[in-house]
Amino acid sequence: MLKGKTALVTGSTSGIGLGIAKALAQQGANIVLNGFGDAEGPKSEVAALGVQVEYHGADMSKPAQIEDMMKFAASKFGRVDILVNNAGIQYVANVEDFPAERWDAIIAINLTSAFHTTRLAVPAMRQANWGRIVNVASAHGLVASAQKSAYVASKHGIVGFTKSVALETARTGVTCNAICPGWVLTPLVQKQIDDRAAREGIPVSQAQNELLGEKQPSLQFTTVDQLGALAVFFCSPTADQVRGVAWQMDGGWTAQ
Ligand code: NAD
Repeated sequence: MLKGKTALVTGSTSGIGLGIAKALAQQGANIVLNGFGDAEGPKSEVAALGVQVEYHGADMSKPAQIEDMMKFAASKFGRVDILVNNAGIQYVANVEDFPAERWDAIIAINLTSAFHTTRLAVPAMRQANWGRIVNVASAHGLVASAQKSAYVASKHGIVGFTKSVALETARTGVTCNAICPGWVLTPLVQKQIDDRAAREGIPVSQAQNELLGEKQPSLQFTTVDQLGALAVFFCSPTADQVRGVAWQMDGGWTAQ
């Protein structure tokens, strides 16, 4: 379905980003990966699906590096047809103890980076009269939790940004939508489970059950494959009129 298209997925060396990159590659899209850590493993996982894959290590908190990544993608593939803004970080503390530097980093990576990638991708999408922007927000884009002020602000921000861009592109073949996952068992969440187990002196399995029990009524993690399938749906012709949504895949978290 996506043969001949190019998808750039930020923060795709791990977790949800890598899952979405693989789901798009399974549909035939060429992929530009981004993120920290080992890139060779993720590159071979995507290449094994029979598409072309490139990697750019831009730091999403650095606008000049983001510009360089977008130029790199255009030089390799002509343009970015599908932009997935997924890179994200978390930090947990009461607002009065929240390090200002962590606040700035979370807003820069989780929110401002999507502004930069989007403003740079939209002109070519408009020209082609086709494009898909998929923003990985969170259940925390719709409701809050204590001790996550920066993350919740960034995710509410990206849901609002999604709606604005969807309106600006409404009369074109470019759509912009957000995905709002609940708990997904990735390194980002594993750290919160491990921290909780250490803090409360309980086994990791108990910390995991408590984490799910607090927020996610299904008591099951959302999987990266399920999120990848939702991203593929947003890229399909069936979703041509899906514009500006913030679509939960959260086991009932935000229905409460
Ligand atoms: P993860 O830690 O597994 O992956 C994060 C990715 O972002 C990695 O590839 C990492 O290298 C990259 N990254 C981090 N900082 C970066 C930077 N400055 N520049 C470029 N890349 C950077 O996390 P994940 O759970 O897969 O999270 C992916 C997205 O999904 C995030 O936006 C997160 O907020 C969101 N999310 C996750 C969950 C969950 O339960 N895991 C739930 C809702 C939303």
